[in-house]
Amino acid sequence: MRMDVLTLFPEMFEGVFNSSILGKAQEKGIVSLNAINFREYSGNKHNRVDDTPYGGGGGMVLKAEPIFSAVEDVLSRRKEEMASATESTSPPRVILMCPQGEKFTQKKAEELAQEDHLVFICGHYEGYDERIREYLVTDELSIGDYVLTGGELPAMVIIDSVARLLPGVLGNENSAVSDSFSTGLLEYPHYTRPAEFRGWKVPDILLSGHHANVEEWRRREALRRTWLRRPDLLDQVELSPQDRKWLLQFEVEHENEVDPN
Ligand code: SAM
Repeated sequence: MRMDVLTLFPEMFEGVFNSSILGKAQEKGIVSLNAINFREYSGNKHNRVDDTPYGGGGGMVLKAEPIFSAVEDVLSRRKEEMASATESTSPPRVILMCPQGEKFTQKKAEELAQEDHLVFICGHYEGYDERIREYLVTDELSIGDYVLTGGELPAMVIIDSVARLLPGVLGNENSAVSDSFSTGLLEYPHYTRPAEFRGWKVPDILLSGHHANVEEWRRREALRRTWLRRPDLLDQVELSPQDRKWLLQFEVEHENEVDPN
């Protein structure tokens, strides 16, 4: 997979792309990550990529020309690169970082991890020329209901969460299959050595070596944690009869805790 980021601050990506798991994934050739300065596509001698808004008002607006030219160049270079590929590739996704976009989720990360080429556009200033939104991008994504100064941090968040899902990126020790949201539930609690710390003990079942009981405990505790913290997620999960029994049990336990009489 290839992920290209169009940004005015490519240096912000150096640490993130070249460290830890993302750095190793690139060394292994699983993913190629590139930060490209779209100022190089300004097409004017002052290298201007923004201008004042029509209709007046504060803030600057990113111009359409540099963004269209940068995306078109990146796409045509990828096309040339893939011309000799024998396998068919999916059409590229051009993703605008935008607080008004669809809220990014683990499900979206799983969907994007199936693609061959993602192009991210990082905004800055007040906004984008609307024609970028209307005629260039395939997706608009937001990482949450708050406003940041630029699209760089959101792009890093999305790239990291997509890359870690690509086969071979995580070792077994970091497997993504039981992660929160991947199963539809929040993940179960973890413990490691020592078995007792300041008088607080690890649940006996985790020390029992009984694999099936441990799995059952983990499912129940994942369910409990989701029920307590994110009950909204339970509406979208397929629940077994045993899961439903546990949920009823949690309610009874909770009522007894609130009202011991
Ligand atoms: N005036 C814009 C609005 O009200 O929608 C906000 C612009 S913001 C200051 C500048 C840039 O930061 C945006 O164009 C976008 O690329 C990025 N950005 C800010 N918050 C974001 C978020 N929650 N998710 C994704 N991108 C965001």
